[in-house]
Amino acid sequence: MKVAVVKESGPGERRVALVPEMIARLRSAGLDVLVESGAGDGAWFADSTYAEAGATVVSREELLAGADLVLTVGRPDEQILDGLRSGQAILGMLNPLADPGLAATLAARGVTAISLDGLPRTLSRAQGMDALSSQANVAGYKAALLGAATFGRFFPMLTTAAGTARPAKVLILGTGVAGLQAIGTARRLGAVVSAYDVRPQTKTEVQSLGGTFIELTSVSSAAGEGGYARALTDEERHAQQAELAAHIARHDVVITTAQVPGRKPPLLITEDALKAMSAGSVVVDMGSGPLGGNVAGSVPDQTIVTGNGVTIIGAGNLAATVPGASSAFLARNISALVLHMVADGALTIDPTDEIQAGVVITHDGAVIQPATAALLAEASHGADTSGGATP
Ligand code: NAD
Repeated sequence: MKVAVVKESGPGERRVALVPEMIARLRSAGLDVLVESGAGDGAWFADSTYAEAGATVVSREELLAGADLVLTVGRPDEQILDGLRSGQAILGMLNPLADPGLAATLAARGVTAISLDGLPRTLSRAQGMDALSSQANVAGYKAALLGAATFGRFFPMLTTAAGTARPAKVLILGTGVAGLQAIGTARRLGAVVSAYDVRPQTKTEVQSLGGTFIELTSVSSAAGEGGYARALTDEERHAQQAELAAHIARHDVVITTAQVPGRKPPLLITEDALKAMSAGSVVVDMGSGPLGGNVAGSVPDQTIVTGNGVTIIGAGNLAATVPGASSAFLARNISALVLHMVADGALTIDPTDEIQAGVVITHDGAVIQPATAALLAEASHGADTSGGATP
């Protein structure tokens, strides 16, 4: 079986799905590894390092012709999609809940789609495959650094002959994997850190990292399924935004990380809350992306400054900006999943396996992952009843 690593082409994407260090592990399971020329360039892994590790460096055409399993970081580009044929498989962060159309396309072509985002994350044997966590860790770290580098003052308290600087007050909104890493990093830089999440069970984790947990009186627990948050009702959302605004105004740097799987990120910082912040404050919006963000007016991958001097950084894909570390983690996650799914040198699809039931999105021409299939059925039903064409 040939496993093939493509060169990413998404905007700002510098990660690669496999690093040279992982090749020996795949080869010892009887797999051959093809690497598209230049695939590791963005993360400083030269073609020669892949070749030395035992991979064959090929052109994209050779890769698509020879691959049994294509490894990608994010959504494959149109050229790859057009080049895939029935019987091939693709594995990456395909985000089927946000992009179910991609799953439908791959199913129609007879391609098996395997997405790391569907992994059952609370299963202990799957932890080494958890790319959402590994990438959120990298991103949370970078968010704190970005906040510190953009803020025009110090994070730590500094006493010098020229005077004493007070420590920065940093607020983290959303304390999942990325938020907790941002707390730890901001604390190591010497900031005074507060944090809030709609899942009150994160309080002890925040405190163990030296942060102060903010409890809101207007919103009760919004813990949903699988350790994730549920979406708030409109009433809850407005109450939360209003109560948070007073806390936000007291902080120098705010990092937002809130997500609800498969939905638009919740708006946590409104225009009014931004207006109440002091000039020189910094907001890093890690929820920023094509569906929206956690901060009013934030623009994905752009930095803007409001009229009252607040810098807002649209930072939805920070893991890609630390490409060496994030690719090394991702490659370990991907290799662990590939090895889990390979038996006797071949990919073995078994939807009765708990891990595979989450990650295998399409197989044998159909969308088989229930959550994605339900989304597509809903979309097609909506299109039928509105008289539009079904996808
Ligand atoms: P995520 O990226 O889905 O969301 C980030 C955070 O935003 C979450 O903590 C969520 O509660 C919070 N959030 C959502 N809506 C909000 C709102 N309106 N206001 C404030 N906060 C809001 O989360 P994640 O980092 O992927 O982690 C999700 C869960 O999965 C966590 O419980 C985490 O501990 C769990 N997890 C468990 C394991 C494991 O058991 N091995 C591994 C990884 C993650």
